[in-house]
Amino acid sequence: MLNLTRLHLGIAHESQFQGLGIKGGCSCGSVRFELRDRPVWTILCHCDACKKRTGSAFGFSIGVDTANVKEFVGPTKTFNRIGDSGRSVRYEFCPNCGTTLRWHVELIPTMQVFAGGAFDDPGQFEVFGEMYTDEALPWARIGCELSRPGGPDDHFRNALMERAKSVNS
Ligand SMILES: [Zn+2]
Ligand SMILES: [Zn+2]
Repeated sequence: MLNLTRLHLGIAHESQFQGLGIKGGCSCGSVRFELRDRPVWTILCHCDACKKRTGSAFGFSIGVDTANVKEFVGPTKTFNRIGDSGRSVRYEFCPNCGTTLRWHVELIPTMQVFAGGAFDDPGQFEVFGEMYTDEALPWARIGCELSRPGGPDDHFRNALMERAKSVNS
């Protein structure tokens, strides 16, 4: 038991301080991925579509530049949804176990958004913002300083990026 605890702490330490080993995958293990470096932003999303996608109270979104995706292997199926903006959001999930791995937002074509809970160590990420708080369950807000009642705009994304930079540098 003690050895397992030490091993776990070792992995978290490595990924947090060397920018290495930011890995994840689906529940059954047939899809695996790895990032080269820290994400650009992290957000909790309280929208109803995220509730449906996760079967839970909110989504945990990790925004990554596509160039930062080192590896993504394994078969996925996609589900396309038209967002509030009228533009598409294409989700990729494991056809075997149903875990959502990442999604592609038409409005931010140079980025991919990963599902925070799909990382092997989701605790390595701090959350800097909350959005769609007008759809939040009354007990689900975590009280981020940066928050919006509806969807993100460029101003909100930039504020999140600045916050992430100042913490990770
Ligand atoms: Zn799977
Ligand atoms: Zn959402």
